[in-house]
Amino acid sequence: MIRCEHLTKVYNGVAAVDDLCLEIPPGEIFGLLGPNGAGKSTTILMLIGLIEPTSGACFIDGIEVAKNPIEVKHRIGYMPEDVGFYATLTAEENLEYSARLFGMDAAERRKRIPDLLSLVGLDGIEKQVGGYSKGMRQRLGLARALINDPSLIILDEPTANLDPQGVADYRRIIGETADNGTTVLVSSHILSEVNRVCTAAAILARGRLVASGTRDDLTGAATLDQEGIAIR
Ligand code: ATP
Repeated sequence: MIRCEHLTKVYNGVAAVDDLCLEIPPGEIFGLLGPNGAGKSTTILMLIGLIEPTSGACFIDGIEVAKNPIEVKHRIGYMPEDVGFYATLTAEENLEYSARLFGMDAAERRKRIPDLLSLVGLDGIEKQVGGYSKGMRQRLGLARALINDPSLIILDEPTANLDPQGVADYRRIIGETADNGTTVLVSSHILSEVNRVCTAAAILARGRLVASGTRDDLTGAATLDQEGIAIR
């Protein structure tokens, strides 16, 4: 589903992502783990085609992102770390807006939007304008990431700032999303978090891949703390 070949992004002479080689098969709930500044967001921005690699390449479903950004956009749902909505629109209208951007017709929108709001546990807030709690924002952000029925969703730190109940709910929703056949890439700086939700993960530090593998393979990676990599 995702392949990175020597993916590198350099800012001002410093590599934010450094020679990253990674393969993520379809159906995985894959964690991208690393401390602040490890290069997780930069990797994600290259995967969704928002920034171009300095060198190397990344592929979604075998399609090179930098050369086919529009085609790739239709296969990916993305939720940024700071999820934002149009403050004067209802929850439903926010999703409607995104659906229209993907060219979804009215009949499709009428079916898909209530289904998604229900999946993320937001039945009843269709008409609410703003005033969403952090948990509601994350749920609505996930619904929006799924609007185009993508084969891959990429979530940047989706559980940051959620309370334990919000985290538990989020885990359940991500699990259900994967059960429906969507591959999930989720970034986090909390090892235990990734351990609980992901089937496999990669650890980044200072832009480089430190380790990757299944949950069991990575259990020993917590010892990386001793090398100064602040994974909690
Ligand atoms: P965080 O969890 O704090 O968001 P991260 O793992 O997502 O961390 P990135 O945001 O990818 O890390 O940042 C990796 C490095 O690249 C950092 O040192 C950051 O300062 C640098 N960086 C990211 N974007 C830019 C930019 N637009 N210009 C210059 N440097 C950047």
